[in-house]
Amino acid sequence: MKKSKIYFTPGPSQLYPTVAKHIFQALRENIPSISHRGEKFHSIFQNTTRALRTVLKIPKEYQIFFLSSGTEAMERIIENTVEKYSTHFVNGAFSQRFWQTAQELYKKPYKIGTTFGTGFNFASIEVPKKTEVFCFTHNETSTGVALSMHDIYNFKKQYKDTLIAVDTVSSAPYIDIDYSMVDLVFFSVQKGFGLPAGLAVLIVSPSALEKYTYLTRKKVSTGSYHSFDSLIHYLEKSETPETPNVFGIYLLGKVCEDLLKKGIELIRKETEEKADILYKFFEERNGFDLFVKDPKQRSKTVIVIQMMHDSSQLIEELKKRGLIVGMGYKEYKTKHIRIANFPSHSMSDIKKLVREIKIVS
Ligand SMILES: *Cc1c(COP(=O)(O)O)cnc(C)c1O
Repeated sequence: MKKSKIYFTPGPSQLYPTVAKHIFQALRENIPSISHRGEKFHSIFQNTTRALRTVLKIPKEYQIFFLSSGTEAMERIIENTVEKYSTHFVNGAFSQRFWQTAQELYKKPYKIGTTFGTGFNFASIEVPKKTEVFCFTHNETSTGVALSMHDIYNFKKQYKDTLIAVDTVSSAPYIDIDYSMVDLVFFSVQKGFGLPAGLAVLIVSPSALEKYTYLTRKKVSTGSYHSFDSLIHYLEKSETPETPNVFGIYLLGKVCEDLLKKGIELIRKETEEKADILYKFFEERNGFDLFVKDPKQRSKTVIVIQMMHDSSQLIEELKKRGLIVGMGYKEYKTKHIRIANFPSHSMSDIKKLVREIKIVS
């Protein structure tokens, strides 16, 4: 199939190159019509779970739940593991959404804020002692700031009885996670996995499940069909409580197999090489500035560039050339451009983008 456009938008984004082939195969196998209670679905469910475990190195005692979106995962985490007190590190729109979710569920979330475009100086931060769950947005898609996983692991070392939740929506599968140091990790598939939207994955530790059980004993509401109990009950039968996105679960398994074939280490290395090219280019180019000033805090997967002039003209020019880049987020709409650097973006895609920007700017 001819690739007419390349989407560098940070989600939905460019499809992984093998997705079209898998969609055709899924149609040949009538995947969108099969029963979600039948054997064929059970084998798809098991295959996707197994492939995910291998790509992301998820320990076998951690559960894998299929949900519908990253935003849903935030709500499920708060409902199923927080009685009252979650603490949120807020440095952009998505971490803010996580905090707001807890507010809306009538918890008492604590917000630790910082300037957009920066990370946190964790050493100098005091956190409430009552915190039940620390909530981190590993990669703030709105600002292009990535936290260091080691800073997050330090919380586990320091606060052994507190759960750690990490939003990796725009950094998975690039980010390599030590699951023994975290309890709740989630992502949706329309970003780094290069798939159509409508599916998310939540990975849950045994401690988080214990916390869930404690809450149910105290009769705290943990939601209905997507409570951890309900999800586990069905997961044991290789099913989900509701009719899930069967098509998406099938495609996720296939793309995970492709990532494994290519080699996740190679994919991670290429991600870093492509990010270096982009950062170097924009750092040196007149009229552009990197939004994240500290090189250690710059995301490898979402590159945010601040422009001296209105960014919409450049975005339009690139669009005419078949290159779709992201606008700035909310108040930065016409000040920034955002470029996704996911496994579906090849080195030659990145080089093409740089070449075209040189022509139009
Ligand atoms: C996109 C995004 C979300 C929201 O995911 P949805 O699947 O759109 O609900 C949450 N967190 C981050 C960091 C994101 O980039």
